[in-house]
Amino acid sequence: MARKFIVGGNWKMNGNTASIGEIVKFLTAGNLDPNTEVVVGVPAIYLKDVRAQLPCSIGVAAQNCYKVPSGAFTGEISPAMIKDVSCDWVILGHSERRTVFGESDELIAEKVAHALDCGLRVIACIGEKLEEREAGKTEEVVFRQTKALACQIKDWSNVVLAYEPVWAIGTGKTATPEQAQDVHDALRQWLCKNVSKEVADSVRIQYGGSVTAANAKELASKPDIDGFLVGGASLKPDFVTIVNAKC
Ligand code: PEP
Repeated sequence: MARKFIVGGNWKMNGNTASIGEIVKFLTAGNLDPNTEVVVGVPAIYLKDVRAQLPCSIGVAAQNCYKVPSGAFTGEISPAMIKDVSCDWVILGHSERRTVFGESDELIAEKVAHALDCGLRVIACIGEKLEEREAGKTEEVVFRQTKALACQIKDWSNVVLAYEPVWAIGTGKTATPEQAQDVHDALRQWLCKNVSKEVADSVRIQYGGSVTAANAKELASKPDIDGFLVGGASLKPDFVTIVNAKC
């Protein structure tokens, strides 16, 4: 089954009305490859504005949400709220949520399950830290994170996995195409054994970690890399080159 290439831009906690206007300009003017799905992860306060400004061919994602529909959870937003402002995606489990905000595998999996139940599409992030890679524990870590997700996910059709080695995020140190391909292949084998062959064949696995206009094409040539989750470079016109890496 052909997996449609999907590139996400994670703006993180960056931008303001003016700079986001500039991003919208290059996204709408930029001749994006129609064979690649594009999603931008927007700070919550700008979701509604950005959704109104971008064509519907570009998905808009929240960068987080909570695990229940409403209630006394100061500072949180719910999947229902994301849907209410006409956005269809959420990024969950980003390494910054795991490390800065202490989110556990279990909490992330519960959030993913609730977001899916509410009809959102989810980019679920996993990835090992440098010390875990150096200790030879990359597979152990990403399998543990994926297992927590798999315990909660009933239907994988609205899930995209993003493999983001933590040591490559925002550091300028990209995983080599071979390192990324090896982990994506291992993840697909894990899914085949522990979920189903159909899910293993169909789920899209993005690579994230210092993807740039210069390295995107080579990474995109690997058979199990189905797209990217891009941080820093998604704020710049270079993002268009990354989106078009398969052309
Ligand atoms: C990210 O935030 O998911 C990311 C991959 O960041 P960067 O591209 O800046 O490394």
